[in-house]
Amino acid sequence: MAKFCAFGELLCDVTSYGVSDRGFPVYEFNPGGAPANVAVALRNLGIEASFLGQVGHDHFGQFLKSTLLAKQVDVEALLMSEAYPTSLAIVSNKADGDRSFSFYRKHNADVMVELHDAFKKKIKEADVFHVGSVSMSDEPSRSTTFSLMKYAKKHNKYITFDPNLRVLLWDDLNDAKHQIEKGLQLADIVKLSDEELYFLTDIKDTQEACSMLMSIYDIQILLITFGAEGCASFHQDTYQHIPSFKVDAIDTTGAGDGFFGGFLSQWIKNGMKLKQSSRDLVLYCQYANACGAIATTQKGAIGSLANEESVQAFLEVHSG
Ligand code: ADP
Repeated sequence: MAKFCAFGELLCDVTSYGVSDRGFPVYEFNPGGAPANVAVALRNLGIEASFLGQVGHDHFGQFLKSTLLAKQVDVEALLMSEAYPTSLAIVSNKADGDRSFSFYRKHNADVMVELHDAFKKKIKEADVFHVGSVSMSDEPSRSTTFSLMKYAKKHNKYITFDPNLRVLLWDDLNDAKHQIEKGLQLADIVKLSDEELYFLTDIKDTQEACSMLMSIYDIQILLITFGAEGCASFHQDTYQHIPSFKVDAIDTTGAGDGFFGGFLSQWIKNGMKLKQSSRDLVLYCQYANACGAIATTQKGAIGSLANEESVQAFLEVHSG
């Protein structure tokens, strides 16, 4: 069976949980970090997955490691730093279910991660290597990310990339664009939100913007997500929009990760072909939409990701 391997940030999403009996704010610590979410999403859907990265050798790092272990993600190459603490992302939920972030991650474990033989070993064992752009925002994790992408490429691994732009993490958005463009040069399958597509291309028309990216980069499958409106795939000059399912969204954290995990699980189970029929792509995207929609129906990310049974049950209720 094919193996998936993700590198990047693993941190605590700290979300407001009302007030204590003494009137002070209460916060809940949720495991977070987009590449780790994608690894869990795939593992839930029956694909062997490992996570590579670094947390602090502290209470939060232990909590994150045991969370991934409980989800049966391979954490052999999750380093625990004695020198740097685990990062925190404070997440505020807005009335419409959307969220805003503030990060505590200067000189923290995920940013300070350097190249390590354990990472290379896991990449060699895997078929697919996945990254995001959060690890590209600061050094040394930026250099580590690109070195690992190049290592994966050299060893003929498929590279999947979800930039997941977090505007607050970048001092200069032109730099964000430049680093994401470097990532696009190495990626085979890319997922962008419609905002990210516009950020990268300055083109309002989605189809035109996709064509532009596909003409510059060697991306084989490009996926665009539109929240409740579903997604689009662009592959071999064919653009297809696939509507999502109607759900009562409570918290959209992790929807994109659940979506991409869902898509990749189908792509992997069907033989990891970079040339796909339009019909198959629609099926994978429908499955991915279901996984994304399921992730919005509960609070948090890792705990709300779909598994094979929940997607099946969801599709039975929502199809036809
Ligand atoms: P991102 O986190 O990348 O911005 P989106 O919010 O666009 O991701 O969500 C990813 C996918 O999850 C969407 O393409 C869609 O399939 C599904 N999804 C997200 N929000 C909803 C919603 N409110 N209703 C139904 N499906 C949703």
